[in-house]
Amino acid sequence: MKKYFENCEICGSSEWRIVFEGKIREGAFGCLTEDSCIIAKCAYCKVERLNESACKDESFYKNKDYRQLLNEPDDALGFLVEHDIIQLRNLSALWPDSIRNKCIADIGCAAGSFLDHVSSLASQVIAIEPCEEYHDYLKRRDCAVYSSIESALPEWKEKVEYAFCFSVIEHVLNPLSFLSSIRALMKPGGRLIISTPNVEDILMDLKGDEYRRFFYRVVHRYYFGRDSFEYCVRKAGFSVVESKCVHRFGLSNAMAWLRDGRPTGDKPLEHLDSPMLDQFWKGYLESIGSADYLYFKLEK
Ligand SMILES: [Zn+2]
Repeated sequence: MKKYFENCEICGSSEWRIVFEGKIREGAFGCLTEDSCIIAKCAYCKVERLNESACKDESFYKNKDYRQLLNEPDDALGFLVEHDIIQLRNLSALWPDSIRNKCIADIGCAAGSFLDHVSSLASQVIAIEPCEEYHDYLKRRDCAVYSSIESALPEWKEKVEYAFCFSVIEHVLNPLSFLSSIRALMKPGGRLIISTPNVEDILMDLKGDEYRRFFYRVVHRYYFGRDSFEYCVRKAGFSVVESKCVHRFGLSNAMAWLRDGRPTGDKPLEHLDSPMLDQFWKGYLESIGSADYLYFKLEK
């Protein structure tokens, strides 16, 4: 155990329990790692972590490798077209707050799909993105662009009134120091909306290892549930304004997993093509905490 896992980066505990051992996802559905990986759960704060030797280092996100691995377009426009359709979910997490006339920052914004949806409301827009391929596009949109939080800090320390960080924390080397640096950018009383996949996703239990080897992936170092995420954000000094689970897929996706062992994404199965049914399914999972994503609204 010691060989694979150091003390927990979040709570300091040295006690880990293996929860999964085997090949995991490397890219799109069906692509698995060559070697076996280990996922272990911290005995104290309950975060789950991939063994470090299987993880991608931070330089991996600086060029197009990451998007290519995901089979996603690596040019700004292609990326935006694919990501615009998911922004309603991110915008819903902001409601009923307003960012009008506020200084905002998006940490890990990629080509800035979310920012494009909100930037006209803000007084100042800061875009933080390690992949420099997107920087020209972001600059043309009048964003102040940085490749890391550290490089933005000299100018923006304690100035950001509303920060956003969607689907990034699961990749970073140390979630606690990552959150602390976001916090350093923020004005006292400022808010942060942050999202990450939910390790308590219902399919983790319903479909077991077949789903787990899809859910766990080499690009994600950490896997949070509601409690472990709350522990982590509080330890970083934030107070929790709101925490919720959000489910992205209709019932057909779960049914296809159970029947065929594969996702359908947004494509409905015959007999289950019903927005009403999907709405109920999503609402049900969100109410019992088994939806596939976590959204936290935090305050400094
Ligand atoms: Zn821990």
